[in-house]
Amino acid sequence: MRILVVEDDVNLNRQLSDALKESGYVVDQAFDGEEGHYLGETEPYDAVILDIGLPQMDGITVVEKWREAGKGMPVLMLTARDRWSDKVSGIDAGADDYVAKPFHVEEVLARVRALIRRAAGHSSSEIICGPVRLDTKASKASVDGIQLKLTSHEFRLLSYLMHHMGQVVSRTELVEHMYDQDFDRDSNTIEVFVGRLRKKIGVDLIETVRGLGYRMQAPNDAH
Ligand code: CA
Repeated sequence: MRILVVEDDVNLNRQLSDALKESGYVVDQAFDGEEGHYLGETEPYDAVILDIGLPQMDGITVVEKWREAGKGMPVLMLTARDRWSDKVSGIDAGADDYVAKPFHVEEVLARVRALIRRAAGHSSSEIICGPVRLDTKASKASVDGIQLKLTSHEFRLLSYLMHHMGQVVSRTELVEHMYDQDFDRDSNTIEVFVGRLRKKIGVDLIETVRGLGYRMQAPNDAH
C-alpha cells in the first residue's frame, strides 16, 4: 500500500511518514500544494494525507482538482482544531475524512487503515482468505493461526493482494503500490516475491493469471 503525505510542516511530515513506514506502507512526501497535487494526479496512491493549509495551493483546491480529474483515492485532511468551516469545505471538496490538529499519530494511522479497507470493500480490520488472516491493525499475517514471518516487501505484496481479493492484479500495479517514486522499480522482482510468499503461506492461494498478473482467493471462492 502506497501513501502520499502532503504537509508543509517538515517535522510533522516526517513524523507521519515514519509512522506509516513503520506500519508497512510505502510513503511519498510532498511539502507544498502544487507538488502534492502533481504527485496525486500522476502516481497511484492507496490513500493521501493532505494538510489544508499549504503553500502554492491550499488543500481544498488540491482535493477539488483531483476529484475534477476523476481521481478517487481516499483523502484524509488535516485541519486546524477550531476551524469547523475548514472541515465542511474539505468534505464538500471531496475529502473522505479529517483529523484536527494537534492529533495523535495513532489516530491518523487508524483512519488511514479504515479508509484503505473501505475503499477496497472491507469493513473489518481483519481480512480473511481461506486459512490466511491479515491483521491490518498490527500489520501482521497468519496461516491457520500461526504468524507468518514476512519481510516488508512480502507483507506489502500480501496486503495488496488481500485487499484486492478475487481481482486480477497486474505486476505493474503491484510495483506501483509496493515502491515509492524514487525506488528503482523492476517488475521481474515481483515474480520472486510472489514465489517466496507462496512458499511461506504453504497453501496455493495466489493464482498466476497468464499474461495478466495474479489473483488471490480462497479455494471455495474460486469459480
Ligand atoms: Ca500547513
